[in-house]
Amino acid sequence: MEGLLVTIDGPAGSGKSSVARAVAERLRVVNLNTGAAYRAVALLALREDADPADVAVLAKLACRVGLGAEEARIDGEPVADQDLRTPEVTAAASKVSAHPGVREVLLPVQRAAAAEARESGGAVVEGRDIGTVVLPDAELKIFLFAAPEERALRRARQSGREGELDRIRQAMQVRDKRDAEREASPLKPATDAIVIDTTGLPLDEVVSRVVELAQKRSPNGG
Ligand code: C5P
Repeated sequence: MEGLLVTIDGPAGSGKSSVARAVAERLRVVNLNTGAAYRAVALLALREDADPADVAVLAKLACRVGLGAEEARIDGEPVADQDLRTPEVTAAASKVSAHPGVREVLLPVQRAAAAEARESGGAVVEGRDIGTVVLPDAELKIFLFAAPEERALRRARQSGREGELDRIRQAMQVRDKRDAEREASPLKPATDAIVIDTTGLPLDEVVSRVVELAQKRSPNGG
């Protein structure tokens, strides 16, 4: 039976990853983290010392990246999450993802992963442009945001770097600006997305709200 696709977009620290993971678990569907694919391209670029402005080289590296449930792959092998989450990779991912040539390569990769997941019961797909560009026909689109102060604090706590709050806040601002202002698939809510401000909201509450919405939209009523 075909399952439902839920998209969750939003800026860094808006709660996307935690919400996507928990919603996927509650609905018993696959969780696809598309940011991991962009991070994998960035990791490859750093490993191979590629020029971050050389689109042709970056697009070629992107061809080696795959996406599966809870993981990105390089040359078919899963990449360790810790390798994808270093500050260097985070900064580089934000840059490589601004290139339309890289996005073009990853678009069919993301769509194929979502189509496969849909066949196996459905998916929660998390990113920046999933509701607008990657899966415009998804049954449920969620856009999360939160006050910048709270987003920086969440990210600092998550990574155990509470002492670096100012630096994290600044780096986040730079990434947000780049994501929102880039020409190729900028970060913005789809016109039919449900926008949730997660500032001050406990994770459980956001998760329950999304699960409830998903169950209402499910072809078999959840
Ligand atoms: O979500 P995460 O922070 O792991 O994503 C890493 C980077 O990949 C982001 O800074 C963003 O620029 C980019 N990205 C994107 N489109 C997506 C997912 C992530 O441009 N669908």
